[in-house]
Amino acid sequence: MSNEDRGVASPLPDSTRVVGFVAGPLETNCYVLVDAAHTGDDGLASAVVIDPGMGAGEVVRQLAAQHNFRVERVVLTHGHIDHIRDAADFGVPVYVHPADRDMLNPQWTATSQFAALFDVDSMAMPSDIRDLDNTIEMGGTTWEIHHMPGHSPGSVMFRIPGLIIGGDVLFKGGVGRTDLPGSSAEEMLLSLKKLTHEFADDDVVLSGHGPHTTVGEEKRSNPFLQSVK
Ligand SMILES: [Zn+2]
Ligand SMILES: [Zn+2]
Repeated sequence: MSNEDRGVASPLPDSTRVVGFVAGPLETNCYVLVDAAHTGDDGLASAVVIDPGMGAGEVVRQLAAQHNFRVERVVLTHGHIDHIRDAADFGVPVYVHPADRDMLNPQWTATSQFAALFDVDSMAMPSDIRDLDNTIEMGGTTWEIHHMPGHSPGSVMFRIPGLIIGGDVLFKGGVGRTDLPGSSAEEMLLSLKKLTHEFADDDVVLSGHGPHTTVGEEKRSNPFLQSVK
């Protein structure tokens, strides 16, 4: 998916391209932000991979060869296995909210129902894990980082005015599960309340699963947001 494919005016710099694809058994949306305005000595554009699910390592390697970019960082919306499975594949720093940091250890998933599905036995742990703070540079611009616990303790949404990369907090017509280990329905309610009050209706939301939507569309039609006004 390129900026144009979203059918909306992109708030990103013209030189930044968003490439999206689906990875792994839970069909996780993975995004690559390619910043053609920042190239290294090798002439390759600087890129950030967000939520590299299972199989994303190989897909991104092919994309990188086609589109002449180099992955410099991996950034995670949260620590669930379907979003982090290939995080170690790139050999670059991996950024996650500190509350979900422990989930990057394969041991965290090894005893769960997802261990076999995501072949956790062959999964590596990233060697350089860094904490997400209040902002992050990606795709040639500065994103706000909003801590939105509930689905997981360290869930975050990345926002620039007009565009949100939101992980599993909000979906078109739904919200993230709160019945998983580490989830909290109470915290989720507070996060959804914050979302409806602080984000703009025109903000396009790229969710962790399924189609994109907008904050305004979900306020109007998402039953999970009706109760948190
Ligand atoms: Zn999740
Ligand atoms: Zn997910």
